[in-house]
Amino acid sequence: MAVSRGADGAMRIEGGCHCGAIAFAAAVDPDNVRICHCTDCQTLTGSAYRANVPALAGTFVLRRGAPKIYVKTAESGTRRAHAFCPECGTPIYSATLGEPASYSLRLGTLKERASLVPKRQIWCRSALPWAMDLHMIEKFDRQ
Ligand SMILES: [Zn+2]
Ligand SMILES: [Zn+2]
Repeated sequence: MAVSRGADGAMRIEGGCHCGAIAFAAAVDPDNVRICHCTDCQTLTGSAYRANVPALAGTFVLRRGAPKIYVKTAESGTRRAHAFCPECGTPIYSATLGEPASYSLRLGTLKERASLVPKRQIWCRSALPWAMDLHMIEKFDRQ
């Protein structure tokens, strides 16, 4: 899928949770996709790492549903709202608690995710060793 960008380099995206209760739209910078290997992301995703892209300021619009919010307090004391679907548990975004909030969208919930390629990996010191290189793991097109 080709990346379609506006004149400002922004890409319009649409997203939602697995059960369909939550739907949203935003604009993102496709060069700002990141993978986070921190231990909080491992636990909160139930997976090896998280892929995120921030919504450009003022572009996030919730179109359907009401996510449940979990406020996470970081080691640094920073508090951050983590939104997820109360029906199916899909992580939707994290956001600053200030106004206006800035939203970090979860890549796997975006319809355009195949066009959004990560450019940076952070918190690599806590990365699971195997997650840094999947090439050696046996591959199947389906299960
Ligand atoms: Zn859902
Ligand atoms: Zn993280």
